[in-house]
Amino acid sequence: METNHKTKDLHISQWSAVVNAKCPRCRIGNAFQGPTYGFKSNKMNEFCPHCNLKFEREPGYFYVAMFVSYAFNVAQMITVSVAAYIFGLKLDYDNLWYFILILSLTTLLFSPFNYRYSRIALLFWLSPGLNYEPNRNK
Ligand SMILES: [Zn+2]
Repeated sequence: METNHKTKDLHISQWSAVVNAKCPRCRIGNAFQGPTYGFKSNKMNEFCPHCNLKFEREPGYFYVAMFVSYAFNVAQMITVSVAAYIFGLKLDYDNLWYFILILSLTTLLFSPFNYRYSRIALLFWLSPGLNYEPNRNK
């Protein structure tokens, strides 16, 4: 490949790879086919288009991502509830439906985000033996 000498010294920060949902091994290939919020969104590539890493490392691998996603969801619900309270929504029975509505919307709004980033968090931080290999190529 002609571009090998150029990509060789390129170091991609973990943070930018995580934010852009890149492959954890090469940090170049996209893990997902589309953007987080879009019509084609949240289809995961089976293999990294750059280094050919198989993202689903074993059968049922992404099952664990559900727990990560659940943790994200709880954190977001708590944050939104506290924010609603600070902005004047008192915690009493009359406001119950407001809270339910707000929390349902929060869950709905964040679900594509949680789906994507729970998998990314799993790949980047919860998979022993899966490390950044900057010089990895096909
Ligand atoms: Zn890759």
